[in-house]
Amino acid sequence: MDHRFDTLAIHAGQPNEERTGAVTFPIFQTSTFGQIEPGVTKGFSYGRTDNPTRRALEECLAALEGGGFGIAFASGLAAAGACLQILRAGDHVIAGRDLYGGVYRLFTKVYRKFGLEFTFADLTDLAELERSFRPTTKLVWLETPSNPLLRVTDIAAASALAKARGAVVVADNTFATPYLQRPLLLGADIVLHSTTKYLNGHSDVVGGALVARDPDLATELRFYQNAAGAVPGPQDCFLVLRGIKTLGVRMDRHCRNAARVAEFLAGHPKVERVHYPGLPGHPDHAVAARQQSLFGAMVSIELGASLAEAKRFTTLTRLFTLAESLGSVKSLLCHPPTMTHASVEPEVRRRNGIPDGLIRLSVGIEDAEDLIEDLAQALARVAPSGP
Ligand code: PLP
Repeated sequence: MDHRFDTLAIHAGQPNEERTGAVTFPIFQTSTFGQIEPGVTKGFSYGRTDNPTRRALEECLAALEGGGFGIAFASGLAAAGACLQILRAGDHVIAGRDLYGGVYRLFTKVYRKFGLEFTFADLTDLAELERSFRPTTKLVWLETPSNPLLRVTDIAAASALAKARGAVVVADNTFATPYLQRPLLLGADIVLHSTTKYLNGHSDVVGGALVARDPDLATELRFYQNAAGAVPGPQDCFLVLRGIKTLGVRMDRHCRNAARVAEFLAGHPKVERVHYPGLPGHPDHAVAARQQSLFGAMVSIELGASLAEAKRFTTLTRLFTLAESLGSVKSLLCHPPTMTHASVEPEVRRRNGIPDGLIRLSVGIEDAEDLIEDLAQALARVAPSGP
């Protein structure tokens, strides 16, 4: 469909229903489909293999990412697993050092057992990426902006290096969403989403998806979607599709709020450091300004307080809920070392620059003044500096 982003979000893959004219694409809540004769179907055979609501979501996601083929999964990690299932024992993967803890755990605790090899490098440094390649490197894994330090990798440059060595590039686009950046158009081969986050946007679904540019690669990933079976239910696909319809308006507000929150925090005497790519002092500000249309709505901070006081801060906010996850209309905050990144060994976390006192904010779409007032009252109650 040849339309612009906000139109595609509402129309792509979701025509009015044929029989009744229903304007909202239905939930096909069925596990199997009647066949005309053995092996001859009306396009669908079994619910794990395919489902019309799931297909609507997959087509919509592909349209939003600028082409290719959407493949939906039961979670972001299930989608990540499918990318690794295209590899064989002995293959080597290069991934960013700053990475969602669950993906790091999937790599090191699950797939390493089956003979895959992993190097974690600073992918904001292209020379380090270049040095990390081995003859066996088959996959380069970019997460940009990264979780939790909001580092930004130059997708076009990293993809060109990988392409020259025949490696497939996966770009985790969960933090940015296709509204802010479209990695397939910059040279990535596969885009990954935890649809649990901004795409759904309302904290009521766990889901994941891939969008692959090349039809053969998409066919291979679709094989693992069915063969390994980590598929989303039709109702979850419906909810993600419903969330996507407002992605553009939500992201505009999310990003506007986050910019104001980051600016407030950067000027607060009890805040030692703010990690937000939209701030001119962020190490990757220039790459983010070039690569993304907006700077996103995730902000990480380090307080000048002791570790205990920093942790206490996360319990003092009234609008920001202390919870895992991100990307919801409702503001959330978390303490990555004990929550989202607890599965990363403490020494690895420290080596990767994740301080024990780091706090990650997912800025929602409430009124920005209320969010700032909430953070201000919580900061007022923490002791200024610790031992
Ligand atoms: N990728 C990123 C960047 C994430 O933040 C997450 C979850 O927090 C995932 C992948 C995994 O997604 P899920 O929790 O849906 O399995």
